[in-house]
Formats: sequence, structure tokens, C-alpha cells
Amino acid sequence: MGEPKPLKQYIKVFAGSFLKSRMLFCRIMLKRQRIAPGLALLCTSMSLLVVMLAQPAYAQSITQIDLTDSERRYLEAKGQINVCVDPDRMPFDGVNDQGEHDGLSGDYFKVVARMLDMEMVVHPAKNWDDLMNAARNRDCDVVSQINESEERKTFLDFSVPYFNLPLAVVTRYDRIFVEDSLEGAGNSFAVIAGDIAIEKLLALYPDIDLVEVENNVEGLLKVIEGKVFGYIGAQGAVVFSLQTNKLDELAVTGSLPLTYDLGVATRSDEPLLGTVFGKALQAIDPKVSQSIRDKWIAITIKQVTDYTLLWQAIFLATLLLSLSLYWNRRLARANQKISSTLSELNLAQTKLEEQNQILKKISTTDPLTNVFNRLKLDEALENEIQRAARNGSEFGVILLDIDHFKKVNDTYGHQVGDHSLVIFARLLETAIRSVDIVGRWGGEEFLILCPGTDENGCKLLAENLRALIEEKDFPKTGQQTASFGVTSHKLGEKVEVLIERADRALYRAKESGRNRVEVG
Ligand code: GH3
Ligand code: MG
Ligand code: MG
Repeated sequence: MGEPKPLKQYIKVFAGSFLKSRMLFCRIMLKRQRIAPGLALLCTSMSLLVVMLAQPAYAQSITQIDLTDSERRYLEAKGQINVCVDPDRMPFDGVNDQGEHDGLSGDYFKVVARMLDMEMVVHPAKNWDDLMNAARNRDCDVVSQINESEERKTFLDFSVPYFNLPLAVVTRYDRIFVEDSLEGAGNSFAVIAGDIAIEKLLALYPDIDLVEVENNVEGLLKVIEGKVFGYIGAQGAVVFSLQTNKLDELAVTGSLPLTYDLGVATRSDEPLLGTVFGKALQAIDPKVSQSIRDKWIAITIKQVTDYTLLWQAIFLATLLLSLSLYWNRRLARANQKISSTLSELNLAQTKLEEQNQILKKISTTDPLTNVFNRLKLDEALENEIQRAARNGSEFGVILLDIDHFKKVNDTYGHQVGDHSLVIFARLLETAIRSVDIVGRWGGEEFLILCPGTDENGCKLLAENLRALIEEKDFPKTGQQTASFGVTSHKLGEKVEVLIERADRALYRAKESGRNRVEVG
């Protein structure tokens, strides 16, 4: 593998590494703003020095190779080697604006040219087909980067491949590529016409629908236009095309289990050229090889994640949440309305009950004296008669009439008369038992219903009342008296009969001089 590296080269490598570490230090310090702007200039100068020193180290690592005499003689006679270069395979292979061999392959050929001390002349080719024709016609001696195939072996000798490249699939950025979508999914894929990839793809995926294009860019544009699903090409080359043409809507979304096994092919009619190239390529220091690859290859495979399901789930969850919030809101509003209606109803009901109570009281009470009215007395009498019919209970009534009341009115006025009536009512109310019922029978007459009381009991109560009234000093009028008619109910007797008897007793009391109790 060649002679030891010269001392000068070691010094350069050491100096380069030292300055690189200084540079890193400077960058970190600058980032943290711990370096003065003047020092930044120093860092920049160091950077330039690094760049100068970092000029392709592999250019310095050329070793001598053992060639046979016939090989040396062949090369001397040859003078120059014409190289066919694929114009559309950057960063792996290409021709720069000055017509020089460019890319990864260009660097390999520079190393080989120095090893063999031979001039390499680029033979211009418009495209791959043009290049193949040139190789067939012997217009070039070497094809810089080519896949081996049976057909190509008829006019070319192949070296051991010096570089492998996976076949990559480029799709629109938002498309998901899986290997299954290569065949029978209605998808078509663009490939460069005459590319060895076609042979390899058809061998592995017999049903794949391929559309041949002239070059990388044409294939990529077809993907953008939607004329094909994807473009299949050499991984690094397509990434390079995407970046240099700023095709941001595309990305490498997959790689295939197929590779371009790139090697040099030499014309088959000059086999010594093949052996010479084989020896030169094998003699290249692996570190040199690595530094060439590092220089040219920077592959980015865009990881496209299928977020469809996630978005669908988020959408559904949001929808359900919104719906449930909406319904909750509606329910809350409805509940609020119902409860406010209920409380309004309750309030109305309470008011109604109060009104009913008032109405009931009004309908059963005498408005002047506030004791029961005639209506209520009739009802109470009827109830008492029915109770007596049910269980034989006894009761009595006291009918009282204020004596000479007309005179009160006439003497003191109607208002004083009214007031007397009120005082009479209060007096009766306080004197009777809680079970007794007092009401205004009409005019200046009152009736007291005494449940569970016989004639004697009623008479006693009437006597008490009479005495109380007699003793009472009425305002303005002074003493007033009343006459009483008392009777008790006889079983089966109707209200009218009972009252008529009480009335007759009262009449007798009047007739007998008033302020008296008569029992009927
Ligand atoms: P007697 O002793 O026979 O019962 O004589 P009296 O004057 O009490 O009886 P009379 O039937 O002749 O007169 C009853 C009077 O009672 C006539 C009426 O003006 C009066 N009176 C009836 N109701 C009321 C009332 O609500 N207020 C007032 N101030 N007077 C009334
Ligand atoms: Mg009367
Ligand atoms: Mg009277």
C-alpha cells in the first residue's frame, strides 16, 4: 500500500487539526459573547488558514503502484485517456463549467491520474444514451461511473465497484411511500432513460410502471406536476438535485433494497487499460477514499410521518368535545330555565294559596266583626247535623239579638252602632269555648254553635254571655243588653227546624222583657 507519508504532510495534518480546534473554541466563545470583535477577526484569519491547509488531503496521499512493463509501455503509447462522464449525476459524477471532470468521481480520477501520471481528458456527452454510444464507438477509453450489465460487458471491461449508492424514491413532501406502492397501486415512477436502475427495478418489481425521462430534473418536475407518483434515482444524486434546484415540495421519502454498484469501465478492446485502472483503484488509501466520500455526500432522507390518523383522531375528539360542550351548555341553559320556571311556579302557587286563603277567609268571614258569616254558620250547622246523624252526637245553638239596637244607631249614629257590633263580637269570641263557633247571623243577631253540648250546657253559656254583656261598659253607649234564645238539636232534625225553635225562644225572651235567656 505504498511508501510512508512525507514529514511535510504530517506537519500539515497536525497544524490543520490544531487550528480546527482553535476555530471551534473561537466559535463557542463568539456564540457566548465572551470574545471581543477584534478577536473575531483573528478567528476568521485562522479559518482561512484552515481552509487552505484543508485542501484535499487525498491529493497528497498518492502512492506508487506496481505496473508491469507491458502496462507501462501501453500507457506511454496511449499518451492520454479519454473519459466519458455522466453529465447529470452530481455530486457523484459530472462536468463543471470549464469542461472538467467534477464530483466524487472527478476526485477519484484526479488521484488515479497522479498515480498513473496520465492526462485524463473529458469526452463530452449530452446524456447517458449519448455517453453509451460514445463508449460503444470507442470515442472514450473509460466510463467514469457505471453499473455492470451483461449488455455493457460486450464492449466494456468492469473494475471492482468503488462506490455503492442505494436507489432512492423521491415523492411529494406530503406523500407516504411504502415499498408496496411500487407495484399495481396505479402509481408510476420516473427513471432516467437507459439507466441501469430500470433493469434492476424490473427484475425485482416486474409490474412496476416506469416512465423514462431525460435527466434528474425532468423526472423531479414530473413528480411535482403529478404526472408520476415518484422519481427513482441514485440517493445522493437526487438529494443534490433537490437542494440545488430548491425543489422544497419534494423529498426523499424512501430507499429501495437495490444499489448502484458504481465502478470504472474501460474499453474491452484494450484490456491492459482495465488492469491498470483496477490496480490504481485498489491502491487508493481507504482514508483518501473516505475523505472523498465525506466531501461529496450529505444525504438527507426526509422522514415523513403519517399524521393522518392522528389528525383524524384530534378532529374527532375536538368534534365530540365541542358537541358535548354544546349540549352541556344547552342542557345547563334548559335546566336554568326549568328551575327558574319552577321557582316562578312555586311562587305563583304560594301566592295563589295565599289568595285562596284570603278568599276563603273573605267568603266565610263577616267583614265588619271578623267572626264567621251566615254562609259559614249554615255550613257548620249542616256539618254538625251530619255528624249527629253519623254518631248520634248532640249539640246546641244560642241565638242572641242586641236589645233596642235601633236606638243606638238613632242616638249615636251608625258608626257607633258598627263599633258596638265589633265589641259584641270580641266579647262573644273570648267568652265561648274553643270548640264553639260564633258567627253573625244577620243585622245585630249572632249565633253560637256549641258542639257536644246539651240544652243545659247551652243555657249556662247563654246566661254567662248575657251577664258579661250586661256588665260591659260600652263606649259612648254605656250599658247594652241582649236577649238569648237557646235550644238543642233533636236527632233527625233539620237546620231550619232547629233555628226556628231557637228563634221562637229568642222571641219569647224579647217578649218577656229582654236581657233574658229562653230555652226552646
Ligand atoms: P229589639 O230589641 O226588638 O231587637 O229592637 P231593635 O231596635 O234592636 O230591633 P229592630 O229590628 O227594630 O232594629 C234593628 C236595628 O239594627 C235596625 C238596624 O239599623 C240595626 N242594624 C242592623 N244591622 C246593622 C249594622 O250592621 N250596623 C248598624 N249600625 N246597625 C245595624
Ligand atoms: Mg233583630
Ligand atoms: Mg234587636
